[in-house]
Amino acid sequence: MKLTEHFTREEMERSSTAIRLGIGNTCPPELVPNMLICATVLETIRAHYNKPIHVTSNYRSPAVNKAVGGSPTSAHSAALGIDFEVDGESNLAVCKWCAANIPDYDQVIYEFGEAGWIHLGLTNGTPRKQKLSAVKQGKKTVYTNGF
Ligand SMILES: [Zn+2]
Repeated sequence: MKLTEHFTREEMERSSTAIRLGIGNTCPPELVPNMLICATVLETIRAHYNKPIHVTSNYRSPAVNKAVGGSPTSAHSAALGIDFEVDGESNLAVCKWCAANIPDYDQVIYEFGEAGWIHLGLTNGTPRKQKLSAVKQGKKTVYTNGF
């Protein structure tokens, strides 16, 4: 099902973890409006770069979120978190662009450098406007302020 011109519900629900573990990842109807908010923001980013965007995660069912070790309060659980990359663009540059141009974002996280991805968290509440970088220290993920 098409959410916006370039983004489908299937793409926003796709989860390699769900496939690998054979568990469901269907967004409940009450969270589809949040998914639509994300797709609309992705269209804004896509229009700026005029390049395809690869979404690796949006909605995560409780089982999938647990399996990936996600925080119980993760924006992904509410279909308000997006992990993505823009074709041929540096993740750092996209993080900076998002923080400067997406109004009322909750979090932009530069996740694990250029080999990683961009996490954009949106909210229906008061946006925290956090800019963070995630790095691995041993097996632990550590978040630092700024990109
Ligand atoms: Zn994420």
